[in-house]
Amino acid sequence: MERKENERRVCLLVIILILTSVMFISCTGSSDDEEKKAVKDVFAMDTYMTFTAYGENAQCAVDMASDRIEELDAMLSAGSSKSEISLLNTNACAKLSDDTLEIIEKAIEVNKNTDGAFNPLIYPVMKCWGFDTGDYRIPLQNELNECLTHMDIDKIIVDKERKSVRFADPDMQIDLGGIAKGYASDQIMEIYRKNGVKSGIVSLGGNVQAIGSRPDGSSWKVAIRCPDGSSEYAGVLEVNDEAVVTSGGYERYFEQNGNTYHHIIEPHTGRPSDSGLASVTIVAKKGIVADALSTAIYIMGYEKAVKLWKEQKLSFEMFLIKDDGSQCITEGLAGAYKSDTDYSIIE
Ligand code: ADP
Ligand code: MG
Repeated sequence: MERKENERRVCLLVIILILTSVMFISCTGSSDDEEKKAVKDVFAMDTYMTFTAYGENAQCAVDMASDRIEELDAMLSAGSSKSEISLLNTNACAKLSDDTLEIIEKAIEVNKNTDGAFNPLIYPVMKCWGFDTGDYRIPLQNELNECLTHMDIDKIIVDKERKSVRFADPDMQIDLGGIAKGYASDQIMEIYRKNGVKSGIVSLGGNVQAIGSRPDGSSWKVAIRCPDGSSEYAGVLEVNDEAVVTSGGYERYFEQNGNTYHHIIEPHTGRPSDSGLASVTIVAKKGIVADALSTAIYIMGYEKAVKLWKEQKLSFEMFLIKDDGSQCITEGLAGAYKSDTDYSIIE
């Protein structure tokens, strides 16, 4: 009975969606090419992605975006044996594409700016917990301690001229899962720009990045999920020309003996971070900065996050939800946030 009702609702929703898209096309039709819309959904980098673009070359832009994502996924995935990252991890030395080099350099820079909270050498630890395969287990602290001895960021030797990277410690292994999607969304914005797209948005799991504003001139609205696992939203951020990236332990985790173990790892202990923050949203001009910082700040916790924000060595704004559910937002973003829940402003 309930199932029938659900099926009926799904049918209705599909019909409404078809009707609205038809209506949209008919209002925007041939008279104004600027308003042409293209949407493409893909599954890559372990997540569902949606590319939306407006403008004369919108279709071409989203097609190129999807090709580019596949190319980056093939290069960057630590889990696929033919990727550049895999070769580097296996041989402790590899010639790399400009893309991979740039991401590694940025990862090192963010590591230095976050007191080591962001550490791309986390891969051995991820494997200990089974996050690479999904065969989850709770490792012994001894195993983790062994991994922690192979995470010295200064032992990543980047040779820009020869476009290669070498590990001074051959047991080191890199994982760009905390930063790659941010670089990917920057790349899509670049493709949009080259195709004359002035209004467009991409959603790569917890990463959203927009070019310009919506075609009618209003801001893009990005809903921030409640970290309690419900489908509720904490609030909505209005953005233009920016990346919005959220990290939270609720995104990927497993449960054992009544405990929850998630995929964002405190790199000094090798254990899922427990900093008192339940969700971190970073807004920045660059996706790569927003992505790496959302992971880092989730690990750093409130006090260190505020300190980093005040320093402004890396330019960003943030919205935080603590474990007790309280919300706070930096002042540069406060005017862009709408919520029914109370929140405090970080000044
Ligand atoms: P998601 O990729 O699920 O959206 P994040 O951007 O927060 O979430 O990245 C989490 C991923 O980052 C993990 O799956 C792992 O690949 C990597 N990671 C985990 N801990 C760290 C860390 N301390 N520093 C850098 N990368 C990390
Ligand atoms: Mg991240």
